[in-house]
Amino acid sequence: MGNTYQDFIMPGSLVNGEWLHSDTRFSIFDKATGEQLASLANAQVSDMEMAISHASVAFDSWRYTSGLERARLLMAWYEKLIEHRDALAQLLTMEQGKPLSEAKGEIDYGAGYIRWFAGEAERIDGDVCAGVNSTQHIQVVKKPVGVVGAITPWNFPNAMIARKAAAALAAGCAFVGRPAAETPLSALAMAKLAQDAGIPAGVLNIVVGTDAKALGKVLTQSERVAKFSFTGSTRVGQQLIQDCAPTVKRVSMELGGNAPFIVFEDADIDAAVSAAMLAKFRNAGQTCVCANRFLVHRSVHDKFVSALMHKVATLSIGNGLNGADIGPLIGIHAAEKVNTLVVKALAEGASKHFGQEWTGSAFYPPTILTDITAEMAIFGQEIFGPVVTVIPFNDEAHAVSLANQTEYGLAAYIFTNDYTRMKRVPDQLDYGMVGINEAAISNPAAPFGGVKHSGFGREGSKYGLDDYLSIQYRCIGGY
Ligand code: ADP
Repeated sequence: MGNTYQDFIMPGSLVNGEWLHSDTRFSIFDKATGEQLASLANAQVSDMEMAISHASVAFDSWRYTSGLERARLLMAWYEKLIEHRDALAQLLTMEQGKPLSEAKGEIDYGAGYIRWFAGEAERIDGDVCAGVNSTQHIQVVKKPVGVVGAITPWNFPNAMIARKAAAALAAGCAFVGRPAAETPLSALAMAKLAQDAGIPAGVLNIVVGTDAKALGKVLTQSERVAKFSFTGSTRVGQQLIQDCAPTVKRVSMELGGNAPFIVFEDADIDAAVSAAMLAKFRNAGQTCVCANRFLVHRSVHDKFVSALMHKVATLSIGNGLNGADIGPLIGIHAAEKVNTLVVKALAEGASKHFGQEWTGSAFYPPTILTDITAEMAIFGQEIFGPVVTVIPFNDEAHAVSLANQTEYGLAAYIFTNDYTRMKRVPDQLDYGMVGINEAAISNPAAPFGGVKHSGFGREGSKYGLDDYLSIQYRCIGGY
């Protein structure tokens, strides 16, 4: 008998290899049915302090393990996640809402970072530099920064923890993570499998609790936390950067986006429409790299909108466990926020090209809005829901100017068959990532991250370890 999702519901936080129990509890609900899935021990400030303290102790030995040893343990963790993909995906769909096929994809995607960083753990090479004179020898050594604190959001409950923890552990750091209170179960299930894989107690700690502010403050203000990594909104990220300043922590921020999806007149429209479906409707539009503004050349505007509408009309909405294409948003409050943006855009002169009325539930109907202008509120905000906004443009310069007209700079997408444009346009786009005739831009081999108000630091790829390593240069003299 294989494991079921119930086997992965843990009682509460994992600190130093122990599961915390408490009478102070909080409930996790199935986002599609509203039924209670679990009741967990609600971590307090003292639990977070204890986690940091144990992580510091664990770091003192973990930092001296060989890259090969860490690689083996990370690979063992990876294998366990893949072995239990189906049960983990079911749990993820229930606590988060996304379709089961996407949840399975997220388990593979998250595990992929663990496999990737297992490989990188063996390649933390230093350097020998030529000195300016013959009496000195210059060595450059990379060392783990120390204890890493991390706060992650609810949209990728597995992968956001995986991306940070895998890099931290590979570098030789100990990790204390606090997942969003809406979706803590996937993170705890991962922690259980890390423990089963043999990762030593205290190296990976997951603290789950509802008081985001208080738990966050312990992480950001502790002298014993050397590095802090956050994925979430720009507003909260700005506060957390300030909170990290007094202890001068290394900080990585993966914040909001406002991705332009630019369709040029020479694009393959069918390919652009297929990519648009993925870029917009994955996770019901709740990802920071979701296409937020469709900038379409006037000459292909009607063709693109009509082809997109035919595809959008086929999307089914419902419980992600039952094969629906679009699950519930994370809560009714999230749907309400999306609806407010839509209503405001319509009042400002946008047209509803496609979409049913919202009925007040967490399920938001896929919607296409046209006649959007750069002056409307919806142009400047991350929608985080299944709503397409289409803005026509006149020429390349106009498209680039519209695309950059935002404080964000995470992902951008361009669709064109002109190879000179494939170089020229990304050169002018102020974004950390550009998909060129491609919507699936995120994978372990690629450096994920943004510029401007979308943050700094990179996750994944050969650059992904840099945020978790500090350089020590040794000057050897006396020759
Ligand atoms: P989202 O819109 O994805 O919910 P948030 O930035 O609000 O983005 O939340 C991202 C993560 O940050 C979640 O785990 C949330 O609980 C946490 N969080 C929210 N506010 C704070 C805060 N003031 N201090 C620390 N963590 C916070």
